[in-house]
Amino acid sequence: MTCEDYERRMERAGRAAADAGLAGLIVTPGPDLTWLCGYRPTAVTERLTALVIEPGRRARLLVPVLEQPDAQRSAGAGAGALEVSGWADGADPYAEVAKWVAPEGRYGLSDSTWAMHLLGFQRSLPGSAYAALSEGLPMLRAVKDTHEVARLAAAGAAADATYEEIVRLPFGGRRECDVAADLARLLREHGHSQVDFTIVGSGPNGANPHHEAGERVIEDGDMVVLDFGGLKDGYGSDTTRTVHVGQPDAEERKVHDIVREAQQAAFEAVRPGVACQDIDRVARKVIKAAGYGEYFIHRTGHGIGVTTHEPPYLVEGEHLTLVPGMCFSIEPGIYLPGRFGVRIEDIVTCTESGGRRLNETGREMAVVR
Ligand code: ZN
Ligand code: ZN
Ligand code: ZN
Repeated sequence: MTCEDYERRMERAGRAAADAGLAGLIVTPGPDLTWLCGYRPTAVTERLTALVIEPGRRARLLVPVLEQPDAQRSAGAGAGALEVSGWADGADPYAEVAKWVAPEGRYGLSDSTWAMHLLGFQRSLPGSAYAALSEGLPMLRAVKDTHEVARLAAAGAAADATYEEIVRLPFGGRRECDVAADLARLLREHGHSQVDFTIVGSGPNGANPHHEAGERVIEDGDMVVLDFGGLKDGYGSDTTRTVHVGQPDAEERKVHDIVREAQQAAFEAVRPGVACQDIDRVARKVIKAAGYGEYFIHRTGHGIGVTTHEPPYLVEGEHLTLVPGMCFSIEPGIYLPGRFGVRIEDIVTCTESGGRRLNETGREMAVVR
């Protein structure tokens, strides 16, 4: 990403804020800050760092004075589109921000802003109001440019390579957490700088979609849900495959086939103009028709970019329509309590002509040892 990329993003964010009826954006450290101006402080602390973006004005970044040299070197500041200033210990940084913004304005505030900072803004700006950025501007980061899609594809390829190696390792007789450690190691070997999750749900644990990885020893005959991802070059991966230790029985095969069919149908429904909720409906219809509707207990997918969960959400009630450049997961599942679970997840991008998968590895059930 170049200085100009960040300059464009900040300008566009200012315009989008105005279109959404907001006076501007106040963004503290986290994915939105890094995406908007390229600055990622080494630590997120109680000392306030805040980026203020208002339509038609130069963006301003307030940082603790001891971090000012680092902030000054960030890519967004390089273009001159960003004015960086520092505040010293003992000063009131909220009063400083109050000097810049409209006292009665309604601002979009980054979702991850600490409550103590929001309370500080409210104290210094008693007439102000706030909206969570993901609700006020859900489209801010949702449509990716070609560089971003390329990075997501590279992260997807690294996840594919991780999967292809993990299925060659033994499962039976090892603990879930041992397989999870292998997943994390492989993601790093394939270029991930950050591993966000390594879910290994064996047997009945697979029926809990967010089971992490525990002490359970994987047995012959287990279904095992593997859901893993993180960040590579600042962009996310998130893949799920369900494998079986030894030969699966007829019901395990059947449930896996249904989930695979649902995932394929949802993928084929992706094209510009389709509402997010319709992708969810397509997946759900397949699973319901097969008699397992009550066991598909989560939404079909979520957006992905500089974080691994972000808008758009493929969920009933989400009327937002797909736009070329959106990138999201498609991850239907069936969870049979006390028995096993199956989930299949790929990252997909919407193009002019339909969906394109950013995970290419096979979706058939792998038999592991
Ligand atoms: Zn089995
Ligand atoms: Zn996942
Ligand atoms: Zn996911």
